[in-house]
Amino acid sequence: MNGQMSKSANGANEQMSKSANDQSPISNLQSPIEMVDVLIIGAGPAGISTALHLVQMDAGWAGRMIVVDKAVHPREKLCGGGVTQTGLAILDALGLDFPAQHVPIREMRFQFGKIVHAIYGDPVFRVMHRAAFDHWLVRQAEARGVSVRQGVAVTDVQPTADFVRVVTEQGIIRAKTVVIADGSTSFVRRKLGWAHAAEHPPLARLLEVISPESADHPLFAGGIAVFDFSVQREGVQGYVWDFPSLRHGQTMMNRGVFDSRVRAEHPRAPLKTALTQAFSVRQCTLATETIHGHPIRWFDAGGNLARPRMLLAGDAAGVDPFVGEGISFALGYGQVAARAIAAAFARGDFSFSDYGRRVLADPLLSQLPQRVKLARILYRIKSPRLLAMVWYLFPLIVRFYRLVNRNIAPFSAAKMRRVKPLW
Ligand SMILES: Cc1cc2nc3c(=O)[nH]c(=O)nc-3n(C[C@H](O)[C@H](O)[C@H](O)COP(=O)(O)OP(=O)(O)OC[C@H]3O[C@@H](n4cnc5c(N)ncnc54)[C@H](O)[C@@H]3O)c2cc1C
Repeated sequence: MNGQMSKSANGANEQMSKSANDQSPISNLQSPIEMVDVLIIGAGPAGISTALHLVQMDAGWAGRMIVVDKAVHPREKLCGGGVTQTGLAILDALGLDFPAQHVPIREMRFQFGKIVHAIYGDPVFRVMHRAAFDHWLVRQAEARGVSVRQGVAVTDVQPTADFVRVVTEQGIIRAKTVVIADGSTSFVRRKLGWAHAAEHPPLARLLEVISPESADHPLFAGGIAVFDFSVQREGVQGYVWDFPSLRHGQTMMNRGVFDSRVRAEHPRAPLKTALTQAFSVRQCTLATETIHGHPIRWFDAGGNLARPRMLLAGDAAGVDPFVGEGISFALGYGQVAARAIAAAFARGDFSFSDYGRRVLADPLLSQLPQRVKLARILYRIKSPRLLAMVWYLFPLIVRFYRLVNRNIAPFSAAKMRRVKPLW
């Protein structure tokens, strides 16, 4: 533990005389200045996972960190809410029992036209309403003594040699280290001019529609989730998903379209048209006012993931461009960030020059560059005949990838078979 511990994050604010550096309009309001060892910006899965992993390493970290989020949980977050086996394993290792309010997916279908491969598991993954999932995670952190300040937006970030000065709506925090976990559109990244290395912004486009659905629907009855890549024929670099889910106990269908844009040189597909067609194939009507969109930042191999005293985690760092899986990776970033922070305090070296290497050495996060390559290969193909051949050979491709990295397809290839399409 760090001998020069700052005043407890949970205790009284440390009032300090303001330096010239603190003469901003906000500091003129006589707001308190606090000092803390670790400030986590964003109480989504990445931020809360960082807090939970620190506390798991040493309960004393609870008093040395503050988590701030501009939203108040439960807050809505556009998301399918699918948590795969890799994410479930991280939660399990943290000693957390997954909440009962979810839909266990026992059959995951990969579809292209009439070619459908089903993968079975008990479950293959779990679908939980994101607002409820994130709220549950926040409560787990609070139960372990972590101070999570909700409804507190960060409005400015100024790194100095000895600390990072973070301006929030409720005052100024001087943090020895800052975890930037404020999502795909990361305000902090933009504020710091933290550029990406990729030629084009590494942002996937997603549209989502959630509508009430009967519990008798075959996807609910069978615990089936569908990843329908047929929209690749329309130029979408991704798929349409159908996830049975629950919201406040009511059965809902979570559908949407994911367009990775890893091939930025290809024209942008009209996503609303693709979604409308997908709904019509499923014999459902799509009310355009129910469509919501949000990007996912994907992993940028050449990009910096850290600066002195600052680490990126979760969507702010970049997740998976292949299927847009982000929750497991956000949880994984939290583990790696927590270890990097503990090592920094132990050594007294806050450069975080090894954070990028730590990310690439992690069994889960090391998949990200591979998933970028995989997405670039698959989403390059335009010919419908070649696409059909690739999807026909899907089981063989999965087996090959499992030989390269078992974690990349976290399910048993033996439990895969061809099934009839539902539409
Ligand atoms: C439509 C859609 C569907 C998806 N479906 C899936 C899926 O089924 N499975 C899956 O694994 N992934 C899915 N994802 C990806 C997944 O949602 C993200 O990867 C995941 O939320 C990343 O978590 P995070 O903690 O990095 O960021 P977030 O969950 O976005 O959390 C960031 C937090 O930072 C806070 N914040 C932002 N700005 C500030 C500020 N200035 N000050 C303070 N706080 C701030 C926000 O309020 C928020 O709570 C989907 C994404 C989209 C858009």
